[in-house]
Amino acid sequence: MHLRVCLLLIVFFTVSSGASQLKFSQEEQAYLNNHKEILYCIDPDWMPFEKIENGQHIGMSSDYFRLFSELSGANFKLHVVPDWQHSMYAIKQGDCTVFSFLNFTQSRSEYLLFSDVILNSQNVIVARSNVKYLVDHTGLSGKTLGLVPDYAQDEYVKNYYPEINVVPIQNELDGLKRVTKGELDATSASIHLFSMYAEKYNFDDLKIVGYSRRNDELRVAVVKTEPILIDIFNKMIGAIEEQQHIEIFKKWNPVAYEEKPDATLAWQIATILLVLSIFLVERFVSSKRANHKLLKINEQLRTTQHQLEQQNIQLKYLSIHDGLTKVHNRKHIYDLMRKNTNLAKRHDKPLTMILIDLDDFKSINDALGHAEGDMVLERFGQILLASIRAGDAAGRWGGEEFIVLCQETTILGAHDMAERIRAAALDIQLKNNRRVTCSVGIAQLIFDETIEQWFERADKAMYQAKADGRNRIVIAP
Ligand code: GH3
Ligand code: MG
Ligand code: MG
Repeated sequence: MHLRVCLLLIVFFTVSSGASQLKFSQEEQAYLNNHKEILYCIDPDWMPFEKIENGQHIGMSSDYFRLFSELSGANFKLHVVPDWQHSMYAIKQGDCTVFSFLNFTQSRSEYLLFSDVILNSQNVIVARSNVKYLVDHTGLSGKTLGLVPDYAQDEYVKNYYPEINVVPIQNELDGLKRVTKGELDATSASIHLFSMYAEKYNFDDLKIVGYSRRNDELRVAVVKTEPILIDIFNKMIGAIEEQQHIEIFKKWNPVAYEEKPDATLAWQIATILLVLSIFLVERFVSSKRANHKLLKINEQLRTTQHQLEQQNIQLKYLSIHDGLTKVHNRKHIYDLMRKNTNLAKRHDKPLTMILIDLDDFKSINDALGHAEGDMVLERFGQILLASIRAGDAAGRWGGEEFIVLCQETTILGAHDMAERIRAAALDIQLKNNRRVTCSVGIAQLIFDETIEQWFERADKAMYQAKADGRNRIVIAP
């Protein structure tokens, strides 16, 4: 900051010393004395060179005109116009005498006189960054090139490159934006201006693809009727020190060497991360889905397993039980007889068989129907199951014939049970108030007899009960 102030002091010192050294001819001095106020025009929208902002002249040429005022003592007064076309019209009309920064062109030289060059600026061709380098306008043949109408570049390109499709643009910024959007293939701008806009608007997708052979050589232009002013301006331009040019340039082009972070690597990493995240999310979602499916399958398997277990339980039940009476079937009661016989013999425990045959069952069927007969059998099954103790077993031996196996029970205990069964059977309600009776044979297992012998003794006792008049219990000898 201090350095900047020092440099400005040097500039103003140099300028003021220059002013004192500047010698105008008598004629020139007389002109300046007679023209205290000289109107000048500028391009109102051409930063960093010049601009009209809130009626004020800013940009590089504003500093030059401040120097010109100091050097000449004349008051250079800005003629305010809205745009470039109005500026050009105003100088043609003589509304202003001087034009600030103008390129020499053939057409302008018909009504303007041009001073020496104040500022040189390279004019560059700008296109999208994927376009190959063109060197100069030659490569743009058949392409669209945005140019501001009546700018020196416009006149130059139309004159020397008629094969280029020149498209009018409002100003250079408009041209750069339209190239970015792909509406134009290229545009032309001074390098000063492009570097300023590229920074300000982040035109990272644009690049300089070539140079115009015609550089911008900015001069002061004066209406043809005032040739003496050109001599005055040339004297003043010649008096400007290089240091002053540099200061003005620095002030309005504050660019510094700076490397932008390489976005490519960041983009590559971001893309890889994105692809990776998509992959991981996809994996996560599909594994969740697979898990969900597995859980469902597991649940179905559990249900199926449960159903199978239930069916197995039912099958096992059905395989050892009688469907109608729910007591054991013949095969199973025989198995139990064998098993219990062995156990009883091994442990020397009493084991007693009660053999029951329903009395005159045929006549119940005949009198009340087979269904009523079934109901009696069903009820009798319930009586048996309700009468036996844990460890005992009841089974259906044949049509209306049943066996109860009483473990660790002698004739006495078995007789009590048989009596309870016989009494309970009497309570079965039949349609015609008939009683259900049964004849019972009881036999306790003798140590060395076979199952068949044991059964035969019980059977004989049961038949004895029949023979004795039914509805009674007979104990086998
Ligand atoms: P007894 O007093 O001499 O034993 O006479 P009973 O009529 O009971 O004996 P019998 O052997 O002559 O007849 C048995 C009857 O039992 C014959 C048969 O129709 C009937 N019966 C056998 N099984 C079933 C069955 O599952 N349901 C029905 N309703 N009747 C059956
Ligand atoms: Mg019978
Ligand atoms: Mg019978």
